[in-house]
Amino acid sequence: MITVENLTKSFQGVSALNGVTLDVEAGTVLGVVGPSGAGKSTLARCVALLERPDSGAIRVDGTDITSLDGSALRAARRQIGVVPQGDSLLRQRTAAGNIALPLESAGVPGPQRRTRVGELLDLVGLTDKAASYPDQLSGGQRQRIAVARALAANPSVLLADEPTSALDPETTGSVLTVLDRARAELGVTVLIVTHDMGVVRKICDDVAVLEQGRVVEHGKVLDLVNNPISRTSSALLPAVD
Ligand code: ATP
Ligand code: MG
Repeated sequence: MITVENLTKSFQGVSALNGVTLDVEAGTVLGVVGPSGAGKSTLARCVALLERPDSGAIRVDGTDITSLDGSALRAARRQIGVVPQGDSLLRQRTAAGNIALPLESAGVPGPQRRTRVGELLDLVGLTDKAASYPDQLSGGQRQRIAVARALAANPSVLLADEPTSALDPETTGSVLTVLDRARAELGVTVLIVTHDMGVVRKICDDVAVLEQGRVVEHGKVLDLVNNPISRTSSALLPAVD
């Protein structure tokens, strides 16, 4: 369970988050949508502990993670898997080598590492691509490897910032399937930043609409689709078939 309370963050006097409050129930998928500059990535980066908010709290299973330091901060970071925006794999490493990276950093011994990498390749359906380099993979396959890498250290939370933005609809489906398996089979709590309401409708349980650093709607996807309250939500919906 993730609870975000009254989060604020400014960059050189420009407010990116202006009192964001929301929650993500354990084992569910939250979609974060909203116009460019609304603060979606900033929110995701704060939850990923890549950015420190100016004020407010982020509780993961009850513990406020915003004020941690040192080894407690590193331990909390391991609980949160991140699929960064864009191409994030190391080009000089194979698919298996990329997935193994967080395990190497955590000091997991070789044999255990290989077992875990095998499980993750299986989870994302790319066992046959273990020895392929990123250049030899399609965009969707690369994203699935990035999801596997984010899951390597067994996090309880998975954050994905625009995981399907560069993909066609069919490839998008294969990445969404993998994210859904992470939730269903590993019980991971997932937060997806996306501009695509199609993605939200396919795999999110809940949706939060951000506008100028504030949550203007937060609730069940079906409620938003059937009865959008804010202008931002209404504007997002016609993009759906
Ligand atoms: P997009 O849909 O375009 O990715 P977003 O909703 O993810 O947009 P953010 O990247 O969170 O938006 O940015 C929110 C606001 O904060 C914007 O006004 C942006 O210019 C500003 N901002 C974000 N990161 C920084 C930074 N590192 N330095 C200065 N300003 C920043
Ligand atoms: Mg962004």
